Amino acid sequence: MSNQRFNRRQFLLGAGTAAGLIFLNKTASHAQSAGKPETTKIRLGYLPIVESAPLIIAKEKGFFAKYGMTDVEVIKQANWASARDNVVIGSAAGGIDGGMWQLPMPHLITEGVITNGRKVPMYVLAMLITQGNGIAVSNTLRGQGLHLRMKNPNVIKEFSRARGRQFKVAYTFPGGNQELWIRYWLAANGIDPDKDVDMVTIPPAETVQGLKTGTVDAFSTGDPWPYRIVEEDAGFLAVLTAQMWRFHPEEYLAIRADWVDKHPNATIALLRGLFEAQQWCDQKANRQEMAKLLSGRNFYNVREDILIDPFLGQYVMGDGQRNVSDFTMGPLYWQCARGSVSYPYRSLELWFLVETMRWGLHRGFIKSVDQARALVNRVNREDLWRRAAQASGIKPPASQSRGVETLFDGVKFDPANPQAYLKQLKIKRV
Ligand code: CA
Repeated sequence: MSNQRFNRRQFLLGAGTAAGLIFLNKTASHAQSAGKPETTKIRLGYLPIVESAPLIIAKEKGFFAKYGMTDVEVIKQANWASARDNVVIGSAAGGIDGGMWQLPMPHLITEGVITNGRKVPMYVLAMLITQGNGIAVSNTLRGQGLHLRMKNPNVIKEFSRARGRQFKVAYTFPGGNQELWIRYWLAANGIDPDKDVDMVTIPPAETVQGLKTGTVDAFSTGDPWPYRIVEEDAGFLAVLTAQMWRFHPEEYLAIRADWVDKHPNATIALLRGLFEAQQWCDQKANRQEMAKLLSGRNFYNVREDILIDPFLGQYVMGDGQRNVSDFTMGPLYWQCARGSVSYPYRSLELWFLVETMRWGLHRGFIKSVDQARALVNRVNREDLWRRAAQASGIKPPASQSRGVETLFDGVKFDPANPQAYLKQLKIKRV
């Protein structure tokens, strides 16, 4: 792998012409200077949750095509396990080349951890979204203060005494973002996710039914699911991930390394199309059109009015909580108060691996902070993001680190010192 070093002089020239992060390049000359794409085709997988919006918009609004990627297929995956299996077989065998991923799936696939030992190296190229996820709790548990900061964690810890079974927590893929969010929430409230609750992987549709009948107690996933659960009167919103960690890292674009290595110009072209889509998605004025397009049968196949509320940062929390109405609390795709959303900060990617280490997930796959850092350095291709940004006249962040992060319980993650983060946490497996 030959990471092309970023040319500092060119960067300075590029930065001089960019008016901040938002800069839509409408000239064709830049596209040519970035090199002709080696292919016009790629197959990208997605799941029907708001994380995938920039990929679908880039295809549907012609942003990929604008940079020469005229034959991009954006393909719905039945679930995360299918997406994984499809990227392992690759597009030549009818699978996919990459797409949207929960972290640390690209790292787990790279190392063969969730693919029966078959290593398929992948590159993380951009972050697709921040926020836009939440945790819903069954209506059968109303009135017990199971909110961001729980009034009485014993409702969960001593659940089995009253109900004859443990409190059941569901998510859609083991060890991905959504499991990590619910683990963080529980542990911050003094609940040990490995001892006090039953953690299970369940498809979204079954989860809604389970919440209704009271066989599933909490569900962690991307919008519109948490909101849909409230709309269908199956549960209430206990937590928005935006409340747990403002502008947290959520899902990413990652592609097989062999595809990227073979098609460097096409990768840059894809990223440039993605940047335009992310900027388009971030315009509040476009959110209604976005909800209409994504709600369609070909895409999420949900009612448009279910999508528009989360897209406007409007959440009816339920269970006596104050509603949220703040555009910046909903899904953001390009920019946030912490800087770029799209740029794949190595510091944010590191958090997922440190959290995997914290819980000893995937049989203790990550054993040390050094191992986590080395794997991020191998999988993360922020250099390609920078090259694409330069070609589009976008000023990239100055550093590969976003700096110190503060979570809702006051715990700080300093990417320069993950050991200090692990030390602060009371409930952990390391
Ligand atoms: Ca997610």
